[in-house]
Amino acid sequence: MINKSKRLNNVKYEIRGKVLDESKKLENKGIHILKLNIGNPGAFNFSAPKKILNYMKRNLRYSQGYSESKGLEKERIAIKNYYKEKNVNVALNNIYIGNGVSELILISMQALLNKDDEILVPMPDYPLWTAAINLNEGKAVHYICDEDNNWYPNINDIKKKITKNTKGIVIINPNNPTGSLYPDYILKEIINIARNYNLIIFSDEIYDRLLYDNLAHTSIASLSKDIPIITYSGLSKSHMVAGFRVGWMCLSGNTKYFNNYVEGLNLLTSMRLCSNIPAQSIISKCLKDKKSIKKYFNKNGRINKQREYVYKRLNKISGVSVTKPKAAFYIFPKINTKLYNIKSDEEFILSFLKEKHVLLVQGSGFNYNKADHFRLTYLANVKDLKYALDALEDFLNKRKK
Ligand code: PLP
Repeated sequence: MINKSKRLNNVKYEIRGKVLDESKKLENKGIHILKLNIGNPGAFNFSAPKKILNYMKRNLRYSQGYSESKGLEKERIAIKNYYKEKNVNVALNNIYIGNGVSELILISMQALLNKDDEILVPMPDYPLWTAAINLNEGKAVHYICDEDNNWYPNINDIKKKITKNTKGIVIINPNNPTGSLYPDYILKEIINIARNYNLIIFSDEIYDRLLYDNLAHTSIASLSKDIPIITYSGLSKSHMVAGFRVGWMCLSGNTKYFNNYVEGLNLLTSMRLCSNIPAQSIISKCLKDKKSIKKYFNKNGRINKQREYVYKRLNKISGVSVTKPKAAFYIFPKINTKLYNIKSDEEFILSFLKEKHVLLVQGSGFNYNKADHFRLTYLANVKDLKYALDALEDFLNKRKK
């Protein structure tokens, strides 16, 4: 018997777990599944702007060698300038390009954690954060994000959950799965907590350019010069190139706190040599191109129309309530579990998949501690979304007690 590492015993990534396996089984039988489970723009006919793809093609000839482990200098300068516009000062040396934000999340947890170190993580979360902490023998301690308060982090709950082992706090802003966008006063409260308890802030901002209603995003790092903060972003969503695998992380704040940790980050990024060079080569072009994503998110944009549709349609289903997303392309509705006799959210999502051939993700897949939520990704066109939500209403009606 060859057994998996014991380190994996506590690691979950259900977005691509059991429910997806069941969906694959149905597909193998020739059944078409409408997949509203992951935020993969390419799967819904979104494409990067042609000029960006052509630029990458032209660069291929020069993209064959390894780069420095932190990434190509020209592209890191573009990232530095991008954050300057967002009032964040980062030194070039403190910018790391990776194979997507995912790789950098794993590296930053691996470089930091010792057994039983605690990291505060939002609930619901993007589950890679919890998985990366558990994989490295740390402990993810979930703090509540309040559905009744636009899904903002609950500051009192954060304070209550700090112990002598707490090393850092993760925020996901804009948020997956809730679509929440945090106001400055919440970010400032989190900075105060970090200052009082010597915490490092990990700010996952991969959706920072995917905003509705002309809203603006504040990087938490722009609100503090002293607190150690790592800010993460990438091109998977803003330029619809999730398959290229490109993202970055930037360290800011008083770097004297960072020196030893940076040694760890440098070692781990060196061990994987460098990230994908063709994908690195388009960063500066993409960061200059602010228009292509806006066209989907402005009033008449495709993704905004899908958001409006999904929000209104979900609210019309009895026993379903939902907070309107301010960013990204996810929605996290609540279901009246008593009304619909739901005891396990995974069972509910599996039965819906088997009966209606629509794939969603159960709230517990985002480490949510109640069985009454699910996530829907609304990248599909309105016709498909209508099909999915009509199917959901019908399915729920049949389950009504
Ligand atoms: N962080 C959040 C909040 C995400 O939603 C995702 C992907 O869905 C990632 C990180 C990973 O992104 P990447 O494609 O850059 O690895």
